[in-house]
Order: sequence, then C-alpha cells, then structure tokens
Amino acid sequence: RQNAEKFEFQAEVSRLMDIIINSLYSNKDIFLRELISNASDALDKLRLLALKDSALLGEGEEAALEIRIRVDKEKRVLQIRDRGIGMTKKDLVNNLGTIAKSGTAAFLEQMQKGGDVNLIGQFGVGFYSVYLVADYVEVITKHNDDKQYIWESDAGGNYAISEDTEGERIGRGTVINIHLKEDEAHYAEEAKLKELVAKYSEFINFPIYLYASKEVSNEVPVEDEEGEDEATETEEADSDESEEESESEDEDASDDVEDEEDDSKEDDEEEKPKTKTVKETVWDWEVLNDNKAIWLRDPKDVSEQEYNKFYEALAKTTGEKPLAYSHFKAEGDVEFKSVLFIPSKAPFGFLDNYYTNKPSMKLYVRRVFITDEFDELMPRYLSFLRGLVDSDTLPLSVSRETLQQHSSLKTIKKKMVRKALDMLRKLAEGDKPEESDEDAEGEEAAPADTSKYETFWTEFGKVIKLGIIEDKPNAQRLAKLVRFHTSHSPDKLTSFDEYISRMKEGQKQIYYIAGESKEALAKSPFLEQLLKKGYEVIYFTDSIDEYMMQNLPEYDDKKFQNASKEDLKLGDKDKKQKKQEKELKERFKELTERFKELTVWWKDVLGSEVEKVKVSHRLASSPCVVVTGAQGWSANMERIMRAQAL
Ligand code: ADP
Ligand code: MG
Repeated sequence: RQNAEKFEFQAEVSRLMDIIINSLYSNKDIFLRELISNASDALDKLRLLALKDSALLGEGEEAALEIRIRVDKEKRVLQIRDRGIGMTKKDLVNNLGTIAKSGTAAFLEQMQKGGDVNLIGQFGVGFYSVYLVADYVEVITKHNDDKQYIWESDAGGNYAISEDTEGERIGRGTVINIHLKEDEAHYAEEAKLKELVAKYSEFINFPIYLYASKEVSNEVPVEDEEGEDEATETEEADSDESEEESESEDEDASDDVEDEEDDSKEDDEEEKPKTKTVKETVWDWEVLNDNKAIWLRDPKDVSEQEYNKFYEALAKTTGEKPLAYSHFKAEGDVEFKSVLFIPSKAPFGFLDNYYTNKPSMKLYVRRVFITDEFDELMPRYLSFLRGLVDSDTLPLSVSRETLQQHSSLKTIKKKMVRKALDMLRKLAEGDKPEESDEDAEGEEAAPADTSKYETFWTEFGKVIKLGIIEDKPNAQRLAKLVRFHTSHSPDKLTSFDEYISRMKEGQKQIYYIAGESKEALAKSPFLEQLLKKGYEVIYFTDSIDEYMMQNLPEYDDKKFQNASKEDLKLGDKDKKQKKQEKELKERFKELTERFKELTVWWKDVLGSEVEKVKVSHRLASSPCVVVTGAQGWSANMERIMRAQAL
C-alpha cells in the first residue's frame, strides 16, 4: 500500500512469529479459539464502556455485539469480524508487534523446551497463533477515537500500518483477513469451521455467525417468470435469529441463490406439474453457538462434559480436564452465581511467580464482563482456581477502579473461599457422593478414590501450606487438606486426621520432625525414643513446612510438638520412670550444673555453641544429641535460612 508506514517487530516477537510460522505442530486449530477469544474480549471491553455511554455502541447493525466468520474459498481467505472496541493506530503498534508482552519470553522459552503451542493464550500472545495457518494477515480496525487502519504482515520481521481510505467502512470493530497457507486450505471449509467453533468457542457470550450454505427444499411454480420469488425463498431459509442481520448481506446471498436456481431449473426441465420441489443451496448467516451463559443454567441441567468444555474455554487449553468443579448460587444480602474449577495442572511458573501471579477469576455484573484483573476476589493462595463470579448485587456502574469500595465484594470473597475449600475437602475425601458426607460413620462404603486429590497435592500442595500461613481464619480447614509421610506411613501420603486416629492411648501431642528427606529423618537420633515407644512421627521435608507449622500450633485440639526441640515430652511416664529420672538428674547434676559456669571440659569442647546441657530420656541408643531450644529455630530451619540467604 502506498501510504503504509513500516515497523519492525520487537526482536522477541519476531522470533516467536518465526517459530510459529515454521511450526510443524499438528494442532493448528487453536488459532481460531485465540482469535475468537480476542474478538470476544474486544466486545466485552466495548460493552463495559457502553454501560456509561450507550452512544458508543452506535446504531443499527453496528450496535449488534457479535462475531461473524466468512470464507472466500477461491482466494483461501478466512475472515473474522467483530464489532468490539477496535484498535487505534497506537493500539495496533502496542498490541500487535512493537512492544513485547511479558509473556513473550516465557512462551519462547517453553517452546524451546518442546512445550505445547496449545498454551499460547495463557502467555498473552495468542494473536500470533494465526501464523500457524496463515502466511499473510490483514487486520482492519476502527476504534471510535481514531480512523480506520490496516495492519498487515507476512511475519517476516516487520509489519505495516496504513490508514484505510479505500476499503469498505467497517463502522467499529475489527476484521481479520487470514490468508491461509496452501496446505491449510481446509480452514476455509464450512464444516471445519463449524466443528472448531463447537469445540473451542461454544461458551463465548456473544453470537458467532458463519456465512454458510444450506440445502433447502422449495415448492416453486413451474414455467413461471424467473426471479420474482427470490426474496421469499431467502426468507424461508433464514434461521430466526439472523433475520435482520441477513439484510446487510442480501446482495451476496441473492447472487448465490440465483446461480443455484439456474442449475436446478435445468435439471428438472422434463417435469410438468404446476409446482415442483427443488433442492436449492442458499447462503445465509448461521449462528454456531448457543451463547447462553452456562452459569445461569440450573446445575442439574449441565452435563459434566459441558463443564469440562467450559473449563477448557476458561483456561484456554484443550484436552485438560479439571479435577473438580463447583457451580453454585449465593442468595441473601449479596447475590451471585459462580462456577469454580480446580485445574489438574499448575499454570506454567505458577509457584515461582507466586507473589506476582495474575488472578484468574472473572468478574461479571449481571452478565456483563467487568474484569479478570481484580485481585480481591480470591486470596492469593487460591489464585490457581479458574472460574467466574456473576454478581446481581453490584451496580452495573462499577469500574475496575471503584470495585474496591463495594463492601459486597468482601462478602463474595468470603463465600467464594468457603466454597473453594469445601470443594477441596470433597476432593480430598475422594469424591464421595453428597449424602455420605454426614453419616459415613460405620457404614461399609467403597474405599474412597483419592487419586485425584493426590494429583492435586502434587501440583498445588504448596499453596495449601501458603494458605495456612496467609489465611489464619481458615488455617484449620486448610490443615485438613495437608498431606505428608510419617514413620507409620513412609510410602503413602497421610493426613492429620488419620494421624490422630492412630494416636496411642495417653498421647497428647502430634509429633513431627522436619529435614531434608524422610529417609534421613527416619534415622534421626531425635526420634529414637519416640519410635521405640511406638509413637508416630510426621516427616516434613518441604522447605515451607516449618513456616507452616509456626502458624499452626494445634490441630483438632491437639498440640504439635517438634521432635528436634528441647521441650519434647513423651507423655506416658509412670511413677517408676519419674523416680528414675529424678535420680539421674541428681546424679549428673554436677556435670550439667557446672556446665552453666562454663568451667569444665564442656567449655573447651562446645564453648558457647550450646546454651545448656540436660539429662533427657529421649534417646534409646545414641549417647547424646544436640537439640534446639523450644523457642529458637530448628536446625532444619537454620539450614533453609542459610540456603535462602545466598
Ligand atoms: P491477549 O488476548 O492475551 O492480550 P493476544 O496476543 O491474543 O493477547 O492479543 C494481543 C492484544 O491485541 C490484545 O490484548 C488486544 O489489545 C489486541 N487485540 C487482538 N485482537 C483484537 C480484536 N479483535 N479487537 C481489538 N483488539 C484486539
Ligand atoms: Mg488473546
């Protein structure tokens, strides 16, 4: 184009595009999901702004919030059009090329490790997936605040932007013309597009139309003058929703009808009745999705498969089933509907970026998408959950900026956390049917299947521990979800509840020890006496475990006792033992007391490295052991702190 201004892609973006366009990745279908999701985002943005200023919507067909797909098979062009917010020239530069988004590098790194292209949308660079199937792309766009522009690129390191002075006026929104690679021509097939929209975009909350052909039977008068019935025929073929919209396309539609009509007339030349039935191909806009929001439906009417597909849409992924979901309605002062999912995989880098992760919960107010960046909807440790909230209580006039001021959001958050923890508890209990929740005691039930929870624990166990540290009011509920190995159960994960059920008579405390590995801990001299006496000891081997325990002094009214600390009590001494101990203390008084004065050989050996020396009964075979004071850090904690201070 003459007036085109050339730009270079930012280096990382250029590299990303290069990888994508040359990719041999077989699941190229996902590009359509990404482009439709961008169209839907653009419509969401416009709808939100239009709440305050309805004039932004425009009039007539321009005001229709929808997505339209059509193809030109001959030219191998697939076109996706939305009436969303559109992009200004500046937006085009910022969003489609010059400035690398934060996810670009991370996604590149993933790709180099042989990662899955399918996850591109999660890195915020979904647009570029179009180059899986295209070798040239045009983005024609019109934002209310700017002129109509064309962005174009063949992915060769640069792109061009020009003011669009000649093309069709698109009013507002964005048209993407995808020039398909030679061997990707099947993406211009209606059947293929229908299949893909059904698979990936079923839950888009705006109607998606495809300009598609369809066979219809018509009674037509024989040997009549041609042409006059055209209008009625097209009308009959209309599906109810598309009646108004089809008018704008009448020209094309009737062209096609005419062609087909001529053919069929020839075929039926011989027949002589007054009217006859003819098969005709008519072209029209066909709605591909039933855009009724899933969360508004009665949970009883939604199948598991639908929830799974909805999850895929939310998570921008395919083939990954959620571990569990919860669909509920809150009533009372604050009313809202919500669907929550537990993913089966942690998002890339989720734990590494724990403190900077973006929230993933979507907030709607009465069906209108408000934001997915409001981080007060869920506490940080639950930010791995996917889902949405649709509030009937918040006013439609909310904006991202004023959300904080609405006290009902606090209530929503509280209820959401409760529901989320409930869902986790059920998963942990092994998906037992609802009714067995209350009176499972004593019943002969099939053993609970906890394999899903084990998957959860491997992927997300750490966030539960972080939750104990960060969410004090829910610490006990979260502690119920913690899993670990113990001296009794070194190979199978177990829980505090199970530990308690195995406690010895008279045992008052829950014993644990923390260290690098369960094998090393099992041999620890700290545990000699405990293990010899048959007490079960929890082996904590995750570096976060001791922090967690500092925030969890007790569980179910039982106190925790760190076995490497000074104040270990074994709790089952009888009179004779007590007497014996007293005698021992007396006998070694000289030794231990004089240590305090630091006058004997202890001083030379240990110096000020130790605080005191005591007679104790915790050992069974080792002669002595160094323990930590009841108040100070354990040796394990020191080890961790030292590692972190590097
Ligand atoms: P993401 O959608 O995660 O932001 P993408 O790579 O899919 O990442 O899109 C990049 C950006 O380009 C979007 O954030 C948006 O600003 C802009 N964009 C893409 N498609 C459209 C569209 N159809 N209408 C308006 N803006 C769009
Ligand atoms: Mg996107």
